[in-house]
Amino acid sequence: MAFKPANNIQDLQYFGEFGGVNPSISDSSTYTFLSAKTMFDTFEGNADGCYLYSRHSSPSNLYLGEALAAMEGTETANVSASGMGAISPVLMQLCGAGEHIVSSRTIYGGTYAFLKNFIPRFKVSTSFVDITNLEAVEAAINKNTKVLYCESVSNPLLEVADIKGLAEIAKRHHLQLVVDNTFSPLSISPAQLGADIVIHSLTKFINGSSDTVGGVVCGTQEFINELRSVNDGASMLLGSTMDSLRAASVLKNLRTLHIRMQQHSHNANYLAEKFEHDGLKTVYPGLASHPSHQLFKSMMNEKYGYGGMLTIDVGSLDKANALMEMMQNENLGYLAVSLGFYKTLFSAPSSSTSSEISEEEQAEMGLSDGLIRFSIGLDADIERTYQVMRSCMEKLDIL
Ligand SMILES: *Cc1c(COP(=O)(O)O)cnc(C)c1O
Repeated sequence: MAFKPANNIQDLQYFGEFGGVNPSISDSSTYTFLSAKTMFDTFEGNADGCYLYSRHSSPSNLYLGEALAAMEGTETANVSASGMGAISPVLMQLCGAGEHIVSSRTIYGGTYAFLKNFIPRFKVSTSFVDITNLEAVEAAINKNTKVLYCESVSNPLLEVADIKGLAEIAKRHHLQLVVDNTFSPLSISPAQLGADIVIHSLTKFINGSSDTVGGVVCGTQEFINELRSVNDGASMLLGSTMDSLRAASVLKNLRTLHIRMQQHSHNANYLAEKFEHDGLKTVYPGLASHPSHQLFKSMMNEKYGYGGMLTIDVGSLDKANALMEMMQNENLGYLAVSLGFYKTLFSAPSSSTSSEISEEEQAEMGLSDGLIRFSIGLDADIERTYQVMRSCMEKLDIL
């Protein structure tokens, strides 16, 4: 039977303490115990349903975590203050001094900077590979490798990871396959395809209103308990905990994610087809010309489409900048990083979100100066949007 992530979210029922249709928000950092013995047991991790201190867990964070675990079909989940607040603790939990990570080379700039510049301080090394080349992935594994890391749909080049193929490699070499699914919530369900741990930046599509940062780690109860351990858990000890008030607001937004993703995908697909037809160099996983179109198709929960992200290459950074400024003036969207907003957002990754990656490495991975990354919004009339975009491109001799 097909996996139904939105049904899984919708079937969860939480009520507030007075029968409210939303769960009550836990507005406390600490919790009382009726007996000293229960407090001791809770510290030892043996008192289910008891709360200790909100850096460890809180009712509001658990509600949101359980909804996200239901979406990904994992045993449980742990929410965090940001996407990086999920990624960094997971990698530090899984790897110690002398150990090694094999990572896709086309990943979020912050994750790349963490792997390249930060975690080597702790003697953890990383090999960056072309994730679409499974032979290259396997060849990069050595006896110290612990983690295989990728994004289901990569930032910013929209490469698609063969999660089943990667999961087989990970199993064979006893690695943990960690997948950042930020670009494709609902569309792709990595844990159903064999990923061990699924991460999201909630900042993007899942929250969808560009009013907060947030993150989540979805995985087994055993791994989430390890992350939250008071003795040696990276999430507990690095302290990137989400606030309860924010967890409650993200949960409310999560309930409309299925509707939003369908509209983001519909609009992005519409524009991608038009741009490609007009002769623009367009990258969108929904286009038959995308090298991984069939692969995405074979992995997706069809209803949610190929996602809201697309790129076009307009030839030079000057042209890209001129086009983005003109589109902003025409009220087509905002010249801004991030993604998943109701309004279209655009930026030139080579000089912004991926500027952590050196020029040579950018060239090698095919990240050119004229590339514009779009997060397509929820526009009610996408044909009108297309017409105005087209006239901007004509004015600038891009079309
Ligand atoms: C934004 C983003 C992150 C980081 O998330 P924050 O919430 O900004 O910390 C990680 N991965 C991807 C793919 C992202 O787009």
